[in-house]
Amino acid sequence: MNPVLRQEYLAALGLQTWVARSTPRDDAGAHEVAAAGEIAAAGEIAAAREAGVDWPELRARVAACTRCTLSTTRTQTVFGVGSQTAEWLIVGEAPGAEEDRQGEPFVGRAGQLLNSMLRAIGLAREQVYIANVLKCRPPGNRDPSATEAAECLPYLERQIALLKPKVMLAVGRIAAQNLLRTDVTLGRLRQQVHHFGVSQVPLVVTYHPAYLLRTPTDKRKAWEDLKFAREVCSRV
Ligand code: URA
Repeated sequence: MNPVLRQEYLAALGLQTWVARSTPRDDAGAHEVAAAGEIAAAGEIAAAREAGVDWPELRARVAACTRCTLSTTRTQTVFGVGSQTAEWLIVGEAPGAEEDRQGEPFVGRAGQLLNSMLRAIGLAREQVYIANVLKCRPPGNRDPSATEAAECLPYLERQIALLKPKVMLAVGRIAAQNLLRTDVTLGRLRQQVHHFGVSQVPLVVTYHPAYLLRTPTDKRKAWEDLKFAREVCSRV
């Protein structure tokens, strides 16, 4: 990537300088976390609900979904956006007010920062696919309930099966914990390669851009996570 452009993107992230690693990362393998058998099994069952469904049919099913009570409070569903041949799948928690209004994930202030984070590693928003654990906005932006996540995840799992991404980036604790079915803290989930679902897609965890807007001092750690995810993607 053009170094001047990269500096501009890093500046947008609030990271104007960084120190390159002097030695290649040689401990990545040691961080690999084997997926638990139960995650794969649960993924298989969930995937069966939407098995064989193509993009248009999946989108229609999501738009008409009444599996949980969020269907009664949403303005519209937020299916996901991006290239259907993307190597990267970014997964957030759930639509917020602006996303609920526009029908597209990450379009608010957090979305602007997400775009800058992606640009910093040389990716345009249009090159990746962006979705959420939930397709509908929880009222008041509360956390998704376990039932809502369980009802909604099969849609994301079918999107993953259709997309076949090289790497998934879970942004924020809620997305990471729901995807990995764990209550381990985000701090402990970062900087490891996890694997998602039956196809064992490599999954990297980082901070949610909304959190980074509140805590800009952690942007540097997010930058480390993005570089780590890029390295994971290049190895697939
Ligand atoms: N936060 C999320 O997790 N997802 C969005 O789409 C917007 C904000």
